[in-house]
Amino acid sequence: MTGRIAVGGIEHETCGFAAPQCTTTLEDFEKQTLRGDELLELGDANTIIDGFVRGVRDIGGEIIPLMWVKGTTGRPASRTDFETVTTELLGRLQDSLPVDGVLLSLHGSFAAEGIDDADGAILTAVRELVGPDCPVMAVHDMHCNLTEEMARSADVLVVERTYPHVDMAERAQHTVQLMAHTVGGRSRPTMAYRSLPLLWSARKMMTAEPPMQDAIAKLREFDKQSGVLSASIGVGYQWIDSPAVGASVIVVTDGDRGSAEQYADSLGRWVWDCRESWQSEPLTPEAAIACGIERGQFPIVLAEQGDNTGGGAPGDATDLLRLFLAERLAPSAVLYVVDPDVASQAAAAGMGAEIDVQVGGKSHARLGPPVSMRVKVRAISAGRFTYDGPMWAGVKEEMGQAAWLEQDDVHVVVISHRQQPVDLAFCRSLGLDCSQMRYLAVKSTGHFRSGFAPIAGSIFNVDTAGVLSHDFRQLPYTRLGRKVYPLDETAGIGW
Ligand SMILES: [Zn+2]
Repeated sequence: MTGRIAVGGIEHETCGFAAPQCTTTLEDFEKQTLRGDELLELGDANTIIDGFVRGVRDIGGEIIPLMWVKGTTGRPASRTDFETVTTELLGRLQDSLPVDGVLLSLHGSFAAEGIDDADGAILTAVRELVGPDCPVMAVHDMHCNLTEEMARSADVLVVERTYPHVDMAERAQHTVQLMAHTVGGRSRPTMAYRSLPLLWSARKMMTAEPPMQDAIAKLREFDKQSGVLSASIGVGYQWIDSPAVGASVIVVTDGDRGSAEQYADSLGRWVWDCRESWQSEPLTPEAAIACGIERGQFPIVLAEQGDNTGGGAPGDATDLLRLFLAERLAPSAVLYVVDPDVASQAAAAGMGAEIDVQVGGKSHARLGPPVSMRVKVRAISAGRFTYDGPMWAGVKEEMGQAAWLEQDDVHVVVISHRQQPVDLAFCRSLGLDCSQMRYLAVKSTGHFRSGFAPIAGSIFNVDTAGVLSHDFRQLPYTRLGRKVYPLDETAGIGW
């Protein structure tokens, strides 16, 4: 292929219920922004943008690098900041015209002040710039809230098929292939979209386990249907009060509108008919530990989903640390408590020092109180490391000032930036061997499985007093704009 393919993206998972300090400002975006030729350096890591760059290069296309911005999950961006980043992306596209195709990495649940569907707004603006005949394709996180506007403005929307997300580069390359066939005149992507009034429990999204395994198997059945170019399920991102919230399906066929609509109906109906399977009941940490001990499967990993830093939580809830200390559950580790004060205190004291600290519980009344500990500083770090995957393999990360602390064989890693544990690389860089623990608490919902599943004896997603309740009835929705299951048992799909 010899086409000029514009590549870029703005990725943000917007959490309307995030604590005020979980901001999304230009400064936050700027931490992970690549512009123009900087994108050409990519290609090796397991991300969507790397997959685009490598994919276009592999098929011999000309990469027109725009801009790529990634923000940590947090509160909606201000209108001005949203406009600043999108204006830059669009300006770069305008300056590059004409192009033969546009590939975008968009999370799919991005919102800004007064804009419920920021991804839709970006796609609409891109379409206006490039006109109706230039193929526009986007790849989304599995936790996307896909909307009518997004589907209307793009030729192809593709969603990841793994949680933890480990197929970013693969889905991007799948999309590059679709782009190559489209630009070369060998395919005419025709997309159908269905929105589902459904909130999907995170516990039931893990693709290595039933029932989510069945959903992925169902997608593979659609892949095999004649004329189907791509099929996707978006499980939704529920922690924002917006009419965009909910699950969705996409089916793309080769030029056949009727069968695209029919397949989308059929896939959407299957997801809807299984709606009870996608729900789960709360689980206390105590019940999870008792279950793990009875099974004798160590380490017991407790995923503290309500304080998932990656989902927009502050990451300094102290329930599990307090429980480990009170019940003398050791050796154990809590990963990671976001507490820049304690990290600095440890750094000032130095490795080997014994210090009194008040760990966590400072961001929100529900997450405290802080835990008084007399700890030994086992390691200190500036917080820079590289993920070893499979999720984000090769991606560089910054935790900010960090420290490994220990009291009575209960270990805590404190960090300064809001990051969730995804693999073992950061702990290994400190010298902490997670596989030697009997109990592990991770402030993550699913992504920790990328590196922790191979060493885990048993894994439980537990419910604590975090700010991101996974009990949908506890979330203060007022703007969903339709009956949504399971909040309303009478909700229906209407087709
Ligand atoms: Zn996600």
